[in-house]
Amino acid sequence: MSRPPPPIIKGWCPGALRPMLSGDGLVVRVRPHGGCLSREQVGGLATLARHHGNGLIDFSARANLQLRGIRPDSHAAVLDGLCALGLLDPDPETESARNIMVTPFWQADDGTHALAQALENRLRHAIAHENLQLPGKFGFALDCVGQPVLRQASADIRLERTPAGALILYPDGAYTGRIVEPHEAVEQAVALAGWFMHSGGITNGRGRMAAHVRRISLPDGYDVPVPACLPFIPAPGLTPAGWMAGLAFGQCQAATLAALASMAPLRLTPWRMVVLQGVCTPPALADLLHAGDARLRVTACTGAPACPQALAPVRALAADLAAFVPEQAFLHVSGCAKGCAHPQAAPLTLVAQSGGFALIHHGTTTDQPIVCNLSAERLRAHPELMTKD
Ligand code: SF4
Repeated sequence: MSRPPPPIIKGWCPGALRPMLSGDGLVVRVRPHGGCLSREQVGGLATLARHHGNGLIDFSARANLQLRGIRPDSHAAVLDGLCALGLLDPDPETESARNIMVTPFWQADDGTHALAQALENRLRHAIAHENLQLPGKFGFALDCVGQPVLRQASADIRLERTPAGALILYPDGAYTGRIVEPHEAVEQAVALAGWFMHSGGITNGRGRMAAHVRRISLPDGYDVPVPACLPFIPAPGLTPAGWMAGLAFGQCQAATLAALASMAPLRLTPWRMVVLQGVCTPPALADLLHAGDARLRVTACTGAPACPQALAPVRALAADLAAFVPEQAFLHVSGCAKGCAHPQAAPLTLVAQSGGFALIHHGTTTDQPIVCNLSAERLRAHPELMTKD
């Protein structure tokens, strides 16, 4: 069997000002301020997706939103539209650094939204006037409402609450952090980003905090143990902020987004779910997934034909196999070894290779398969093959 070419690691994320070319056109990523979108912004994004793209919208694992299939000659019009909606940064550097994930469960009076705004402003100033230059994938998680919920999501600097209610700031991957007062949290977070940059965390424009803290000692003062907590398992249903609903493969049509705009402001999550702010009952919208839907037990990347690196279509296969995934299990179907949709290990993984799908149990797309060369047709005819040892 000939080996597929290794996947291309780009090392940066698309933005609005610096979109990424995919197999179905430009991918324009929108970073909502504070992780939420007003109804007007949601409706405006639906219109942009319909008029200038292929009408598909992705909700990313970094709690952002992507307009897909944007025609290159429409990119300027999309930027004008985003600017009118208050969703455009002044330059690509600021946009790239504004990777701030916010717990979707914040309350109006808990200070989280103000912290997010202050961090945005401080980062913008540090980039413009203090030569702060962070890698494109470097990000912050403001996870300071009760028990942390974003620990499984990608971030490099985390701000959480201890069980006693204090704010603790720590580098991703570290076991200790420092207690900060609310008024100094933003300054200390940006200082920690500066420490990462000046202590050799970046090589050839790339670098992540977790790898860096494995190599060197933390700055002085980072000596308070990070509290242990159970992994947060997100599920559709009522949350303190509103109704959380799933989207199959984290994607929807512009018409669905327009319908959501008529219901409530949206809070984005890294779990391929959205929170309809203030909504207390399940919204009656066919595309939303609610508790018990088998499609919540599968994930799949864009795959072929929209992704140029994909070796096979994957979403239709994942949807067909969903009902056969055991209740406590999870299936990741990937179009290539890059594993974009789920970089972590999964109980069941199918990864497209040049000769068919490889099946991996309890591993990632690059772990040892237990069987290779499975065709999509065979998997559909014999879904029990997935769970056989
Ligand atoms: S994992 Fe999927 S989306 Fe990512 S590069 Fe491979 S085929 Fe494309």
